[in-house]
Amino acid sequence: MTGALDAASALFRELTGYEPDGLWSAPGRVNLIGEHTDYNDGFVLPFAIPQRTVAAVGLRDDDRIRVASTFADEPVSVGLDELDRVFPTTPGTHPAVPEWAAYPLGVAWALRAATGATGRGVDIAIASDVPVGAGLSSSAAIEGATASALNELWRTDLDGTALARIGRRAENEAVGAPTGIMDQMASMRGERDTAIFLDCRTLHAERVPLGIADAGLAILVIDTRVTHAHSTGGYRERRASCELGASLLGVPALRDVSVQDLSRAQQVMDDVTFRRVRHVVTENQRVLDTVRVLREQGAKAIGELLIASHASLRDDFEISTAELDTAVDAALASGALGARMTGGGFGGAAIALIDADAVAEASDAVTAAFAASGFSAPHLFPVTPAAGPRRDA
Ligand code: ADP
Ligand code: MG
Repeated sequence: MTGALDAASALFRELTGYEPDGLWSAPGRVNLIGEHTDYNDGFVLPFAIPQRTVAAVGLRDDDRIRVASTFADEPVSVGLDELDRVFPTTPGTHPAVPEWAAYPLGVAWALRAATGATGRGVDIAIASDVPVGAGLSSSAAIEGATASALNELWRTDLDGTALARIGRRAENEAVGAPTGIMDQMASMRGERDTAIFLDCRTLHAERVPLGIADAGLAILVIDTRVTHAHSTGGYRERRASCELGASLLGVPALRDVSVQDLSRAQQVMDDVTFRRVRHVVTENQRVLDTVRVLREQGAKAIGELLIASHASLRDDFEISTAELDTAVDAALASGALGARMTGGGFGGAAIALIDADAVAEASDAVTAAFAASGFSAPHLFPVTPAAGPRRDA
């Protein structure tokens, strides 16, 4: 964290020659369970992680907005009144600014559109400890850090849920990535040692205490560092299958289909669509079961649900990869209570729920399994459920 705070401050000074008005940060997230359920109006159970993205921000004397990131070579500068010409990005095309800049600029655009904010221009320097593109939602973290900063500096006074909607609008309409609301809500509503049980239809959010450390457990992230080129196309295809399944069943979204309805569903759709539907329907049920088991028995008892989620993502939704399967299998073989891929799939990260004492041994086992399969070494680190956005300075 200190790393990103220092890096954002240094980049801000390099960009402007003066000190920022403040530093704001927002976390990445891990989804404990509930994958590809968010855009089906379903349930998810993510938590925020200690890794954060920091925005160092200062008000300007004019009406320009300039963004820089340690992740990018060049700063990008546009007039505030140009934002409405730059966004929304026409679906299927690339944003008129470099893609990374569409995240913070899109947040500024969406915030102005939602609130009529008339605040002055800003300089924004961004640095992150969240691995980018690893399924840990560096995108929600950059949106959340930028939104928190502008919300304060422009005095728009929106709450966390409203800012999550701003982030989602930026991602959907400025970047052009058709994602659900889970990542932004997980980042904006994160709390220490707590998961967020979110109904993606109503945005009703409940805290679910996790008690991971108290149970002598740890959650190990296994970032495969592989992102497959077809991930965006694959994501769109899965969404389209879900929409087709819902329309064939005559419901607004797959959220409205229960496990008992599946035998009927099988009769009215092709096999591939049915398996996509079955994943979403059973995954929604697994989220509900996980919340109940956490509340009644605690974190030690949710392993089987994580394992079943991975199998469904691998076999029915078909978005796992050889690397993710290797990570999950090696973690389970070395004694993890449960493990699953997390995030959108086609690469990215897996998580393993594991005895805190066994983290080193499991990490070695996963690393060895990757080497034996000829995969490049994964990046392994434990995460603890952490707090949401804050002002750091
Ligand atoms: P994930 O959210 O899983 O990390 P995404 O593809 O959703 O992956 O988001 C990653 C993209 O978000 C990056 O390619 C980049 O465009 C943008 N991004 C994330 N973090 C930063 C950052 N610190 N600086 C600039 N852009 C970032
Ligand atoms: Mg993302």
